[in-house]
Amino acid sequence: MTTQTLIVHGHDLKTAEKIAINIMGELETRKNHFRVHTRINFEIENLRSNNIVDINIINHSFNYDDIKLMVSDMDSTLISIETIDEVAKEVGLSNEVSLITEEAMQGHLDFSESFKKRLSILKGARTESFNEVYENKLKLNPGARELINFFKSNSIKTALVSGGINYFAVRVKKQLGIDTYRANEVEINNGALTGEVVGHVVDAQAKAKYIDDLCEHYDLDPNQVIAIGDGANDLEMMKLAGLSVAYRGKPILKKNCNIQINYGGLDSLIDFFDKF
Ligand SMILES: [Mg+2]
Repeated sequence: MTTQTLIVHGHDLKTAEKIAINIMGELETRKNHFRVHTRINFEIENLRSNNIVDINIINHSFNYDDIKLMVSDMDSTLISIETIDEVAKEVGLSNEVSLITEEAMQGHLDFSESFKKRLSILKGARTESFNEVYENKLKLNPGARELINFFKSNSIKTALVSGGINYFAVRVKKQLGIDTYRANEVEINNGALTGEVVGHVVDAQAKAKYIDDLCEHYDLDPNQVIAIGDGANDLEMMKLAGLSVAYRGKPILKKNCNIQINYGGLDSLIDFFDKF
């Protein structure tokens, strides 16, 4: 049996010690996390369900230093809200829209159809409502800025991809200093939504295609990409990327990713790149 290494994220020494004993491992203290090295077999899901800290496995055959591009979802990943739901609230159509959003994020509805449906419900909504949501409701998730800054200072390109309205993607991209983005262009007439999408909806396949396009643009292999998301529509891009992260992810996503962040901030991911 070769040695396996676990990351116990955060600063909870007692829990890290308990986990180390549990899997007969050797505990190592790092700057913002702990590592446990063990030679016995263990079930990571058991450890996760018995401890309220983030626990992930380091894949020793994966070269984390070779990551050159981050592609992240926006709603409920980089930011704490679903922007389209907040726009709906702003214009008094919350009940009609948020139920469809939740079903789509769980993977129970075709994403493209669900987006068109939600947008058609919002027909007539004024674009001022976007600004209201951005100014008063939109909050970055914990660690988002730190993570982006970390990637930027390590020459890792950053990209935002959103199945939502591009107005928010443009502003969040700018706020965080992200390099590039892709999101849904929606038709606006006389300052109001017409309820129509311009071009194709950014669905799960389009998110994966975006990674392909960026890899071609930056001359990278998908293995050099870290993809971060929370919803079912992030699944396809996760399959493509070398490293995939479910941030407070839906069950379907957690089952299919390399890394789970369920308690800590997005900057927990920096632990994977910590050399000392
Ligand atoms: Mg999302």
